[in-house]
Amino acid sequence: MSKILIIEDEIAIADLEKDYLELSGFEVEIETAGDTGLLRALQQDFDLIVLDLMLPVLDGFEVCRRIREEKNVPILMVSAKKDDIDKIRGLGLGADDYMTKPFSPSELVARVKAHMARYERLTSSHQKVNDIVEIRGLKIDKTARRVWINGEEKAFTTKEFDLLTFLAENPNHVFTKEELFREIWDMDSIGDIATVTVHIKKIREKVEMDTAHPQYIETIWGVGYRFKV
Ligand code: CA
Repeated sequence: MSKILIIEDEIAIADLEKDYLELSGFEVEIETAGDTGLLRALQQDFDLIVLDLMLPVLDGFEVCRRIREEKNVPILMVSAKKDDIDKIRGLGLGADDYMTKPFSPSELVARVKAHMARYERLTSSHQKVNDIVEIRGLKIDKTARRVWINGEEKAFTTKEFDLLTFLAENPNHVFTKEELFREIWDMDSIGDIATVTVHIKKIREKVEMDTAHPQYIETIWGVGYRFKV
């Protein structure tokens, strides 16, 4: 359930807002001063904060500014004075929306829902972005564990994929076979550094146009391998 924090010193208003938001399915907490509200906002995770401007101890401007230093949670600021709203905008405090009191509870609910939907879209689209490594014609999708060469997908075994990805993520760095073996195979796995040579050969067969003149994984004679950029 989405959690909302109301920071409001007028108890009657705070209670009314809480009732309406709870009826709409939100879990609601109330703080009645700026300092306690700020502390709560920083210590707990809320999905949205309704923040009054005139508050005891610490005003809404300061509370908003300090929440924004640490969190992206949507902040809906409310004030009795239209002038204050202009001031909030002018200060660029990072509030997401502003409402002038008195407002109808249904307007509050509508705005809260709109901001929450927007925030969820933003945060979930961030999570959905795959981790991609792209070097010239080689594209590695680390999230999906898929590889394409010039747009054509190639199948890799787990270790081939890990080895290629490790090299591609550390380009221009020469690794010895021992280093690569330690990096990709766990300590107690059966095999030796010859395993690395075999895997490099298989990777080259898939990614290189001409394995005799590799464009991606270069052999540094007597040392090891390097991914060319
Ligand atoms: Ca107030």
